Amino acid sequence: MPLFNISAFLIVKLRKPVNNKLMDFEKIKTLLAGQPYYRYLQAQKAIYRDTVSSWQSATALPKKIRDLLEQEAPIEFDFETVKSVDRSTLKALLKMGDGLVVETVLLRHTTRAGQRNTVCVSSQAGCPMGCIFCRTAKAGYERNLTSSEIEGQVLFFKYFLKNSGARVSNVVYMGMGEPFLNYSNVISSIRVLNDREKFDIGARKISVSTCGIPDKIEKLASENLQVNLAVSLNAATDKLRSSLMPVNSKYPLKMLMDSVRKYIGKTNRRVMFEYIMIEGINDGAQQAEELALLLKEILCFVNLIPFNGTGKLKSPQEDVIKKFRSVLEKKGIAVTQRHSYGQDISAACGQLVYSNKK
Ligand code: SF4
Repeated sequence: MPLFNISAFLIVKLRKPVNNKLMDFEKIKTLLAGQPYYRYLQAQKAIYRDTVSSWQSATALPKKIRDLLEQEAPIEFDFETVKSVDRSTLKALLKMGDGLVVETVLLRHTTRAGQRNTVCVSSQAGCPMGCIFCRTAKAGYERNLTSSEIEGQVLFFKYFLKNSGARVSNVVYMGMGEPFLNYSNVISSIRVLNDREKFDIGARKISVSTCGIPDKIEKLASENLQVNLAVSLNAATDKLRSSLMPVNSKYPLKMLMDSVRKYIGKTNRRVMFEYIMIEGINDGAQQAEELALLLKEILCFVNLIPFNGTGKLKSPQEDVIKKFRSVLEKKGIAVTQRHSYGQDISAACGQLVYSNKK
């Protein structure tokens, strides 16, 4: 039995932001409408390439235009930050023009290839999908974010990292919201992130995570973008998955896996299946066997994520996770295990906004 009526969750109400304080290039375009186009390109370069902290430093622009931009589109972010103790994670709450608050997270980690700075962006303020393990779901749903509001989260950290000489290397759409319920804004923000004249972040360094909306998975395959697809799976049977994720009642596993097969057929790209492990619910050896069967012969890997939260749902013990992992690996499924970044600041999906609301 589904926990919720999914149709109620799929109603997306849009409310236009009234005075977006994040960098909004649509607004800048309007302000510079009477100017030659190269003035717009100069303004764009000042932000994306030079990361100027004030329009007055954008000296390629005439003083009159700098004053206008300073007045109408100041380079400022309305934000509050919480830093994790180990300094690897920084979570920011950004205020949108209409007062709504969204969270965005910076994960700093060292890999063999060097330092990585990954920004986890939100695509919606809140989320209507109702997954039971998710704090964002409990905070309710407000609206879709505009493309600029999504880009603005990356821009915020681009500015934040500027002084240390570092740059944003990766972006994951794994913050608040279901990206495919805001498909066109998400795709348009990806194109801006990927644009060499703007953020210049390689498509392969951008990942989009969905709870499983089949038609949008297939649509993404035809976008000619080399981004990574992640599917939040969390269970390998319809009964269990529907009890955890209401979306499964509308789009059961067969539909979901068919769309993933089509996606792989078209893009030949490996898909990541995220599996949040919850003690006593989806962490048994039997469930690992079912998962291995579901993913048989699919070009993919599984990312095991021990549940990060408080309350009735708990993370499994280390030996249970190990056993689950070894069942998958024995069946030939590649497995990674995500480090629970920034547990001290509730760095899992939606948790900071939720605790602030409380
Ligand atoms: S897990 Fe993702 S899709 Fe599910 S409610 Fe949370 S934000 Fe929405």
